[in-house]
Amino acid sequence: TSFAHFGFDEQLMHTIRKSEYTQPTPIQCQGVPIALSGRDMIGIAKTGSGKTAAFIWPMLVHIMDQTELQPGDGPIAIVVCPTRELCQQIHSECKRFGKVYGLRSVAVYGGGSMWEQAKALQEGAEIVVCTPGRLIDHVKKKATSLQRVSYLVFDEADRMFDMGFEYQVRSVASHVRPDRQTLLFSATFRKKIERLARDILVDPIRVVQ
Ligand code: AMP
Repeated sequence: TSFAHFGFDEQLMHTIRKSEYTQPTPIQCQGVPIALSGRDMIGIAKTGSGKTAAFIWPMLVHIMDQTELQPGDGPIAIVVCPTRELCQQIHSECKRFGKVYGLRSVAVYGGGSMWEQAKALQEGAEIVVCTPGRLIDHVKKKATSLQRVSYLVFDEADRMFDMGFEYQVRSVASHVRPDRQTLLFSATFRKKIERLARDILVDPIRVVQ
């Protein structure tokens, strides 16, 4: 598979070329077409596999495909991950690839300023990258609304569970409309993750790095 097989538009291809990636990684070859098809997906992949781009590129296509925006002004896509560092990393990739479309990304994570994050959310963003507990805090304070979210990603789900975030992860899923597309990434596929997948994904396709 080459990048040309994904059918991305010239704007996204231009940014990929600028990144000097020569060819898609295995998780991208398998995962991108599934994510583009709109199906739910479980990706068993570790850091370094190129999994971040595997969910960001289809996410950008998904957002740009929204011909009629749902009412409200909250994000269209959210990425939920375990740590501040990962949030910042994913957020910077979202900005890098989303820039050609003028898409805005906001990162909200525990330990950062509630007030500054709320201000950024209220200024508006199509993409929110977050840790689960902090996102719920912002939703409860009405700094943002999840009613427009139709593309939902959980990254490093096993690590979120190890950190004790299972309740928060499930809470985020329950706040997002059921007709969304959901992608779940995890380095391992233990019983607890399997159970989560059964509860929050619909007829998912599983890909292994
Ligand atoms: P990740 O597994 O998403 O954390 O990505 C690991 C690193 O690989 C990041 O620095 C990416 O920028 C880079 N990367 C992602 N996709 C590709 C690709 N197709 N070719 C080369 N590097 C890539």
